[in-house]
Amino acid sequence: MSSSEVEKREKLLQASPGGRQPEGKRVAYLVSPDLIRSSDALVCHPGRSSCVHSLVYHLGLLDPAETSEQPVKESSNSSSCASSDGGEESELAELKRMLDPDASYIFPEQGSKPSEHRRAKLVISPLASDEQLMAFHDTCYVKALLGEASLKGDTSEGHEANSALASPTKRPRFDTKSKANVQSQSKRESQFGLEDDCPRFPLLAQHVRTVAGATIHAADLLANHQADVTIVWDGGRHHAHRSKAAGFCYVNDIVLGILALKRPRKVPQSRNVGSGSRKQKTILTRFERVLYLDLDLHWGDGVEQAFYSSSSVLTLSVHHHAQGFFPCRDTRESANGSFQVSSGPESAPAHALSLPLRPGATSETLSAVYASCIDPIIETFEPQAIVVQCGTDGAAGDPHGVWNLCSAGYLDVIGRILKRDKATLLLGGGGYDSPNAARVWAGVTSLALQHGENKDLESIRFELLAKKVPDQTFWSEMSGNDSLKVHAGEMKNENDEQYLQQLADRFEHYKSLLTKWRQERK
Ligand SMILES: [Zn+2]
Repeated sequence: MSSSEVEKREKLLQASPGGRQPEGKRVAYLVSPDLIRSSDALVCHPGRSSCVHSLVYHLGLLDPAETSEQPVKESSNSSSCASSDGGEESELAELKRMLDPDASYIFPEQGSKPSEHRRAKLVISPLASDEQLMAFHDTCYVKALLGEASLKGDTSEGHEANSALASPTKRPRFDTKSKANVQSQSKRESQFGLEDDCPRFPLLAQHVRTVAGATIHAADLLANHQADVTIVWDGGRHHAHRSKAAGFCYVNDIVLGILALKRPRKVPQSRNVGSGSRKQKTILTRFERVLYLDLDLHWGDGVEQAFYSSSSVLTLSVHHHAQGFFPCRDTRESANGSFQVSSGPESAPAHALSLPLRPGATSETLSAVYASCIDPIIETFEPQAIVVQCGTDGAAGDPHGVWNLCSAGYLDVIGRILKRDKATLLLGGGGYDSPNAARVWAGVTSLALQHGENKDLESIRFELLAKKVPDQTFWSEMSGNDSLKVHAGEMKNENDEQYLQQLADRFEHYKSLLTKWRQERK
């Protein structure tokens, strides 16, 4: 992305009509037409992205004012953006058309009376560059994802893949004449994990660039102090490894986002110089400590492994653990039924934490372990920024059918995190009942916006859960439940008091390790 484009995007964010909105957290919501298109094309949850963003849009939670009607797509990697009449269409106009084909929803007019509720700044997310992707991923893997010769200056593989990048729907050409080449190609695809649950698909290159670009930009907005909370519901691809796709994840946007949060940068700061006047100066700053919380049903293996040796990033994954449940890890069952895993190397003890929950976990279970295990770790680690992967495959109704969470569990935990007033990046993740994923994430978006108004958390939750889904064709076709509420099922909760106490005891131990480690370094 060019520096002029960066400036333009930053200006757009700053130029929002903030004075007309009630005070509260500055929330930025990142999405783009290309991001929706390529996320919708994922085989694991087809159409989910449209479902999620359409609901958020129709609930009136987005403020498109700062994006203006000017085309902002300038990246050389972008596909063309032509309207049906052949003219160029702004990404905002295209986004509105995608989310609201019948044009049934009208944004509140700017300049009119203050809105009843705050809205998130709608930020059209950029594409990630090759360099940004390679901040974590291996060059060969990035080449395999994007098309052989996509990287600048690399022409060793010919021109086919360059055209595949320019036109993401075109796959790299394989030489089908040579059996040896086919076998070699197949072996390489397997080596990169591009098979089984991570097959190539026509919009793969676009997906990789858009999802990584959105999360990196969301992190940049936080690090540049331009937002307090940023949201990327298409992000949260926690299983992708440095050089291998896994578990429906091709690019680890979370790792890239955390690296962006940690990057030192110059930020303007104003200080009082007396007589009521203020002076601007630029300071070099960075987030020294970042906490990553993973609420997905599955262990956030890719993120944990990426930062396993880092003492500035603490990863804490709440997930289901059972023999053979993806992603499998080398564990030993202890006599009390819990599993034993390393919580980090000697140089960074208790920085890679696992919180395994048994089948049937409810919102009450999640709230209980937040209070006894998660909150004390946050308190001890004192992160300046928190990244939350809000996968909803643990919600009741998800095809996995392992946990039994309802909306209240997610809202409770994320509400408590938001109350800590740290820079917060909220990401999506798993969630294979698309309407339920949309319900939970729309609720969390609304929660982030309402938070900071000194409302009681319980009353915010109550208002959200009572909210009706807007009446619109797109949504009603996908769900018979017209409420934002995700209802818990009848599943037996195997996380009994004794097990919760075992977890609390183990995390008490982690907390003491962390406390000792931090004290030694102060
Ligand atoms: Zn998952």
